[in-house]
Amino acid sequence: MSDSELLSCQFHPQAAAGWFCPACNANLCPSCAVLESVASTDLSSCGQCGAAVEELKVHRSRTPFLRRLLETWMYPLKPSGLLALLGVGAVVALARGVFHITPSLPKLAVLVVWLGCFWGSLFWIVRSTAMGAEHFTAPDFTSVMHDLVDPAIRGLLATALLWVPAILFIVFSLGGAEGLGPLFLLLLIATLLYAPLALLFAATGESKLSLLNPFKVIGVGMSLGQPYLMVAAFLVPLAGLYVLLTVVATWISSWPLPLVAPVLGEAISLYVPFVVARMLGLLLYVHGDRVGYGVDSEFYEAALPGVKPRGKKRAARGASREPHAPPSPLESEVMRAVEANALDQALELYRRLPERLPPLNAASHLAVGQRAATVGDYHVAVRALKQVGQHSPEDPLAPRACVILARLYGERLGDTESAQKLYRHVVSRYPGTDAARFAQSKLTPA
Ligand SMILES: [Zn+2]
Ligand SMILES: [Zn+2]
Repeated sequence: MSDSELLSCQFHPQAAAGWFCPACNANLCPSCAVLESVASTDLSSCGQCGAAVEELKVHRSRTPFLRRLLETWMYPLKPSGLLALLGVGAVVALARGVFHITPSLPKLAVLVVWLGCFWGSLFWIVRSTAMGAEHFTAPDFTSVMHDLVDPAIRGLLATALLWVPAILFIVFSLGGAEGLGPLFLLLLIATLLYAPLALLFAATGESKLSLLNPFKVIGVGMSLGQPYLMVAAFLVPLAGLYVLLTVVATWISSWPLPLVAPVLGEAISLYVPFVVARMLGLLLYVHGDRVGYGVDSEFYEAALPGVKPRGKKRAARGASREPHAPPSPLESEVMRAVEANALDQALELYRRLPERLPPLNAASHLAVGQRAATVGDYHVAVRALKQVGQHSPEDPLAPRACVILARLYGERLGDTESAQKLYRHVVSRYPGTDAARFAQSKLTPA
């Protein structure tokens, strides 16, 4: 795990590297890394030496934050976002309609549904975006208290301080005070800087009291730094758009279409709040580690996301071999050493063998692979165990070799994805074996 810099390929300085080969100590571009099919599982390897490669990771902040922010306008307009706009819009429109015709006491319950649904959906967008969701996903509803009352209170508290400039303005202008202009402008800017943070706090479940503690809120803002200022700056044009859309929404609501018109109106006026919530979520998704949100390692992503190795394996030293060619003297020596259980000697001899070695039997590859894993030579271990999966998938030793290979990937090379693929392969290909039972116990729900 490195920093936010892209590394370049050892062999192609112009190309960005996506993998690291520990055996060659080299960063590799997609042409220098290869995909090898072992036990129906694609494993990334080094094109030079065949060792298992590690995926290079970079911090999420490598993607310019501005670009992420500029993409947020699309978020509510994707199919899932439109559905959410209409769904939340319908509840809010209904609550608003009922609110006006309800007698005083039940009014409170309707208000809670109204505000709870509004704030709850915005907070959900912030949290799910912070966890990396690309689209609006339906939130789980657990209880009225948790999903309606709590968000309603948080929303009110978070926005409570935002009314200060407005109230001051009214009070002062009623008193006819002079020189209010600059002060009011300062307050307005302060509010603009404060508002996104207060909402961020409200969304991520900080205690309700800290929502009203400007020092705590501002401290977090300082830690987030420039990206936070970018979000705050976006609020200015978004506020303008919000006013515009509210005018449109009011006009649409007045259409003589019962149910449809009010829902459409509410949905339109929810567009800007959805975009703002998405921006706040991105702030945490990319820079949350600055304020202790989430685990540090979560803030790194593949250096070349979505790119697969496409290199060709370098022709093996000594050229390709006939699968049924007789073993070379060195290979015979390895097999004899394995049979005599002289595993260290076998490993030593194995290290001197060329890359491709079908004539060795599965037992020798497995024994050497296990020994190499025990002494920490993961390069040779992976190379030997792969041979069993590639050349002797029918051998009774194959499931065992696959499981050991999977453990190497998962526990030693930090590649849980490849490990899981190998475990799944063992479970489906070799049912009923000890290896399959072990692999089953290692599978995590997809
Ligand atoms: Zn290598
Ligand atoms: Zn390269």
